[in-house]
Amino acid sequence: MKFVSTRGGVPPTAFDAALVAGLAPDGGLYVPVDLPQVDLVTPRATLADTAHAVLAPYLADSALRAQLPALCDEAFAFDAPLRPLRGAGDHVLELFHGPTAAFKDYAARFLAGALGALRAPDAPDTTILVATSGDTGAAVAAAFHRRPGFRVVILYPDGKVSPLQAHGLECWGDNVRAFRVTGTFDDCQRLAKQALSDASLRAARPLGSANSISLGRLLPQAAYYAHAAARHHAATGRRLNVIVPTGNLGNACAALVARRMGAPLGDLHLACNANDTLTRFLAGADYAPQATRATLANAMDVGAPSNIERLRHWFDDDAALRAAVQATTIDDATIRDTIAAAPVRHGIVACPHTATALHVLDTRRAAGDTDDWAIVATAHAAKFESIVEPLVGHAIPLPDALAACLARPAESERLPVDDAVLRARLLA
Ligand SMILES: *Cc1c(COP(=O)(O)O)cnc(C)c1O
Repeated sequence: MKFVSTRGGVPPTAFDAALVAGLAPDGGLYVPVDLPQVDLVTPRATLADTAHAVLAPYLADSALRAQLPALCDEAFAFDAPLRPLRGAGDHVLELFHGPTAAFKDYAARFLAGALGALRAPDAPDTTILVATSGDTGAAVAAAFHRRPGFRVVILYPDGKVSPLQAHGLECWGDNVRAFRVTGTFDDCQRLAKQALSDASLRAARPLGSANSISLGRLLPQAAYYAHAAARHHAATGRRLNVIVPTGNLGNACAALVARRMGAPLGDLHLACNANDTLTRFLAGADYAPQATRATLANAMDVGAPSNIERLRHWFDDDAALRAAVQATTIDDATIRDTIAAAPVRHGIVACPHTATALHVLDTRRAAGDTDDWAIVATAHAAKFESIVEPLVGHAIPLPDALAACLARPAESERLPVDDAVLRARLLA
């Protein structure tokens, strides 16, 4: 399978080259030339088996082809259970059982394994530079921690991530360094972009990125949708519709990929926070990226979702896209109300991101929808304890991986918003 750019300015490129490049040279995002049909209706034994079935056609001529089963076993070593909720037809797809208790663990681990396997044994170490508002940095740090040939440098805005999220970025040590930047997330992103475009720095210190536009962060995510839908279909004969808490659109694009490849998925409903760029666009407005607004669901605070290019690429025109995908904007007050009501109404404790999807489900049920829906739980509620605990009125037990992270000492360095200082740190 070859890959082209959403902007059309790149010749068909092999998987391995597209994976290492991240962004296409014309500034677009890599997409496969087509979405292959695979039997995703017959359930497979494990999530890793489904991941293998989903990814195999994309890696048919990759140097990694023979290692794909092992890469899938490693990245998909923890389950993504689909559990029934209280209401008829209501389900939750739990994607928070990995080392950093958020869905980004799956694809970050796949990407780390794949880049590790593609690396020449005598190549100098690559420094993965990642700007993060919380979850991405932790997932990437966990995935590359102690992986030979790689270092990780995390840039995050000082004081703007929750204490538990900060600890999750600072608890690794070894080949991972955390810099708390005295600025905003946008400053962190600018610093990372500047370093990644500095040719003389890269000649002295090979740099790489692991951001969400990478194919290695996107395609593996189709696996948990396909796996859940196949099992649901085998048990009920019905398609599974999904509600996805959405920021940069990577997770939602993966659901679309799974459906196009033949998984028995039905409708796709995007739950967005007050950053309503997508909701406006899908309702018929021109696409107009906006400045990012801070919300309770902070991992979805994206004003210019880059994967919109992929979403548009996969439909003939915007009218077809608008007919196929719905989106709803949920404000912070509604997120709070939904978290507070969820234990009684649905029998779960929801993180602020998951709560956006729950609210969409509530709205659909109130309007008389009786189809089978799964809300996607993108993170564990314990990660956002300062928001969730006061609303549900009790402490939330930490999953083991988060508890282990909190038990390790935290270490970070302050970094001014200054390209020269970061450059010096990277070269040190
Ligand atoms: C990253 C993230 C999202 C948004 O996912 P996208 O793929 O960027 O749309 C939602 N919830 C949580 C907890 C996240 O970490």
